[in-house]
Amino acid sequence: MIQPIYLYGSEVLREKAAPADLSKKEELAKLIEDLRDTLKRSEGCGLAAPQIGVSLRVLIVDGDEMEEVYPYLKGFKRVMINPEVLEESASLCEYEEGCLSVPGVYCTVRRPERIKVRYWDETFTEREEEFDKFACRMVQHEMSHLDGVLFTDLVAPIRRKMISKKLINISHGKVATRYNAKVK
Ligand SMILES: [Zn+2]
Repeated sequence: MIQPIYLYGSEVLREKAAPADLSKKEELAKLIEDLRDTLKRSEGCGLAAPQIGVSLRVLIVDGDEMEEVYPYLKGFKRVMINPEVLEESASLCEYEEGCLSVPGVYCTVRRPERIKVRYWDETFTEREEEFDKFACRMVQHEMSHLDGVLFTDLVAPIRRKMISKKLINISHGKVATRYNAKVK
């Protein structure tokens, strides 16, 4: 079911999300379905459970929306339950990020170039996988949500100052979105 997306200023986006209980399969399957439906409706490339108001460590990424910019992302889709970074490269790289919870704001963010992640997929199978390029960035961005961190926290201070008015407006609900959104 399509759920409203919580916007910048919402408390749930600032909480450290709790680990999901893998024995609650039905509940998790419903959450994953909600994330998928909501992401599809909003035409984004990733969504974390806190963004639909559920403070659990579950996220999805879907590269199809980014295919025009990064053709290698076609068909790149993952569901990650309780993801954990096992290794990250010392080398950093920059990409422009945006976020369905921070509409209309795009900033260059520096993060590790490659990561190795352990997670459980939607069949509740444990996996270890390495990511690089923009696929890595999508996973990193969503994982930050699970720790209450937004990409706007990671931009250079001068840039953050430039976007501060926009962020205040979003937190007051003064923003137009193509999808159902709320601040709470
Ligand atoms: Zn986001």
